[in-house]
Amino acid sequence: MQIREQDPGTGPRNGRGHRGDDLRRLNTAAVMKHVFGHPGLSRSEIAAQLGLSAASVTNITSILLDAGLLRALPSPIGAQGRPRVPLEIGTSALVLGIHLGPRTAGVVLMGLDGVGQASVLVPHAGMGPAETIDRVVAAAHKLVADHARGRPLLGTGIATGGIVDRHAAVIIDNPGAGWRNVRVMELLRGRLPSPVIVDNNARAAAQSELLYGHGQRTNDFVLMVITADIGSVMVDDGRIRAGFSQTAGQIAHLRVSDRPVPCSCGKTGCLAVMASDDAVAIEARGRGLAGVQNIDHVLELAGAQDPVAIEVLEQRNRYVGRAASQLIDIHDPELLVVAGTPAETPAVFAALVAEVARRAHAGSGAAGRVVLSSDHVFSLSLFAASTMVDAVLDDPLGHALPEGLLNP
Ligand SMILES: [Zn+2]
Repeated sequence: MQIREQDPGTGPRNGRGHRGDDLRRLNTAAVMKHVFGHPGLSRSEIAAQLGLSAASVTNITSILLDAGLLRALPSPIGAQGRPRVPLEIGTSALVLGIHLGPRTAGVVLMGLDGVGQASVLVPHAGMGPAETIDRVVAAAHKLVADHARGRPLLGTGIATGGIVDRHAAVIIDNPGAGWRNVRVMELLRGRLPSPVIVDNNARAAAQSELLYGHGQRTNDFVLMVITADIGSVMVDDGRIRAGFSQTAGQIAHLRVSDRPVPCSCGKTGCLAVMASDDAVAIEARGRGLAGVQNIDHVLELAGAQDPVAIEVLEQRNRYVGRAASQLIDIHDPELLVVAGTPAETPAVFAALVAEVARRAHAGSGAAGRVVLSSDHVFSLSLFAASTMVDAVLDDPLGHALPEGLLNP
C-alpha cells in the first residue's frame, strides 16, 4: 500500500476539486495500465477501449509522455489521414530494486519495462541490519551515479525473506539473515529514492510474475517460491493476498515426507527440510556426491547428466509436488506457478507434475495447471523493483514528481 502525504490543495475538505482530482488520477492510472498491458495502441484505440473521451486520453497521455512514463513509437509508414501514433511504456524512468539476502544483497536499476539496466552485489555476511543498510545505500548511490545518466528515479522496492509487514515497512522475522523487527525506514533515513516499499520475496516474485510473466495470461494463480526460502503467494483477481497478519502462504512446515528429518519447528519431514536448496545439497552429499557444497553444484552435475544429481532433484520436485497438490486443492487457482531453483532444471519438472497428478483430488486436470515461473533465472532484486513498478502503475501522477529523484 502506498501512503503519500496529501497535497493540502487536494484534501477531502477541498470539496469538488478533490473528486475531480481523484477521477483524473484514476483515469491516468487506467491509461497507464492499459498501455502497459497492450503496448502499441494509439490514443483513439485507448479511448475506445477504456470508454474515455479522446480529449481526455490526449490530455493524459501528453502528461505521461512529458514525464517519460510513456513513449511514442514511430507512426506506420504510408497510413492515410491523421497519423496513428502507437504508445508504449517509457524506458527513461527507472526504479531501484534491492534484495536483502541472508549473506548478500542485490541492487538493480530497472526500467518500467522490467529490464535491468545495471546491478551490483553487496556482501554483508556477519553484519547487522544497520551496517548492511549503510553498505547497500552506498552501493545504490554509486550505481545511480554510474548508470542512471540523469534519468528520473521513481522509487525503491526492497524485498527480503521471512515475515515482512509491508504497511509498516518492518522486517518482522527473517530467519535466514537472523534479523528481527528491523525498522527499515529508520535505518534508511531518506537516503534512497522515495517512496520506498518493503515486502517479502515471495510477494515480490508474484508481483513480477503478474506484471511481466504469467500474469499476462491470467490474474488468478498461486506462486510457490522454492529456494533457500520456501513460501507461497495467492494472487486473486490480480491482487496479492498477504493475509490478515501478512503471513499468508507459509508452506515451509507442510509435512511432505515420513522420513524422520528434523525441522527447526520441532516436527519432521517438513517441506523446508526436504525441498529447500540446502536440503538438496545435504541429500546429494548423503547419496555419495561428497564434494557438493551447494545447490548450484547439484544443478551443474545434473546438467552434465549425473544420474544421482538428477534423482536428487527429481525427489525434491516430488516433495514440492506434494505441497503443490495441497495448494491446488485448497485454492483452485487457474495456474500454479513454481518459481526458484526448480525453474532452472526444466528437464526434471515432469517429476513434480506427475506427483501433482497422483496426489491432488483434482487429478490430472490439476497437473495441467502447474507451470514453471517465466523467470528461469531467479532475480530477487528485479522482483523487488517490480513492487515499485506496480505502485507507479497504480498512481503515475503521484510518482512522476521531482520528489521521486534521488536524495543523496
Ligand atoms: Zn517444520
